[in-house]
Order: sequence, then C-alpha cells, then structure tokens
Amino acid sequence: MKNKLLLRILLPITLMLFIAIFPFTSQAFDNSTGFLDAVSQDSIRGWAWDSANPEQAIDVHIYIYEVGNPQPLTVIPVRASQYRSDLADAGMGDGKHGFSYIIDWNSLPKCTVYQIETYSITSAGNYRLENTHLYSSEYTIVSSLGSYKATAYCPCTRCTWGTGLTCTGAVPQANHTISVDTSKIPLGTKLLINGIIYTAEDRGGGIKGNHVDIYFNTHQEALNYGRKSVQVYIVE
Ligand SMILES: [Zn+2]
Repeated sequence: MKNKLLLRILLPITLMLFIAIFPFTSQAFDNSTGFLDAVSQDSIRGWAWDSANPEQAIDVHIYIYEVGNPQPLTVIPVRASQYRSDLADAGMGDGKHGFSYIIDWNSLPKCTVYQIETYSITSAGNYRLENTHLYSSEYTIVSSLGSYKATAYCPCTRCTWGTGLTCTGAVPQANHTISVDTSKIPLGTKLLINGIIYTAEDRGGGIKGNHVDIYFNTHQEALNYGRKSVQVYIVE
C-alpha cells in the first residue's frame, strides 16, 4: 500500500522535474548572443553573434506582434551580416553581425502598438535576442502600463453625481475624457487605449489601481461598452 502511494507521488514528481530541467540543458549548447538595438519609422536594427562560429553570419527572425495578441502579425527573416566596427571592437569575430531591416509600417494594421522581438536562428535552436521594443506609427509611446480593467460611465445621475463636469471642472468629452486612479496616473496624462488617445481628467471613488473608467455621452453607450481588459500606454 505504502509503496503504491510512493509510486503515485514520486513518479509524477520525477517526470515533472525531467520536463522542467530538459529545456535548460538543451539551451546550454546555444552560444549565440544579440541585441535588438532600435526600432524606428523606417528600420529595425540589432545584431546577433554565435561565439561557436565567430566568423559566420547567422539568421535572425523579426517577430512583430500587435500588443496583447500572442499571434504574430508577421515574421521577417533577415541575415545578421552587416559589418559594425563596434562589434569587431568588442571581439566578435569579423564584426559582420549587424542587421538593419527596412520596414514599411503601412503594410501592417494602423492605429495600434507593435511589439517587436527578435530571435537568432542557429543549429542549437532559437535564442531570443535581448530587448523588446514597442513601436507605433501614430504615437510616441512613453511607457506601457500593461493590462487594465476598463469600465464606462456617462454624465447621468446613475454614473456620476450629476454635475455634468469632471472633478477638475472640465466639460467631459467622449473619445477624450477618462477617469483614473490619480495616485497611479496624474491628471493630464495622455493614455492610448485601443487606438484612442484619452486625457486623464477625472477620478472616482471606485476607480482604484489598474482600472480606468471611460466617458461616453449616453448611458446606453456606457452600458454597451460594459467591462473590458485593455492595454494602456502613456503617450505624448
Ligand atoms: Zn450613465
């Protein structure tokens, strides 16, 4: 009886340990390093180098995601083979390990925020290059606040005290006014949510932490919006 119990407990634990350790042991053979340096309006730049093959250019895959969506919009293969004196100076073989991909953002969905990650592709496996970039064609992204709960309100007495004004005395406007926890987001901050730029100009007793309340003109519109999980960015 006792032996059976031991088997029932020990066998799964041993299996789990094996599964947990195996990815690390296989990764240990990967000697590649690299960095995603910059993402701009026309290019994606970085470098990748395999210390086991110091003179060889390696392949890099550029993954472009729409933030919040685990499915990439596109995967772009490039070769890290451009000469860079800084890489040569750092002792990386012949220094021909940079990449610079000319990107046309217009070919991707607009009014969104892209997340860019890069991987070196070697015989030992795919290794994620250091650094992740966020990019938007329309906005300057100051920072990502991550996932927030978004609710909706209107000027009616069910949603507010019915003064029709925000706590700052401003006249609220749809697609513009948003209520925040001012201990986390200062009034006046511009927030990008689902392609719309809001200004934090209101607060409410129920809006605490990772929660924003979006202003709508009518109660029906607020009801229709309901409650969503959204990605929030501070923009300029
Ligand atoms: Zn209302």
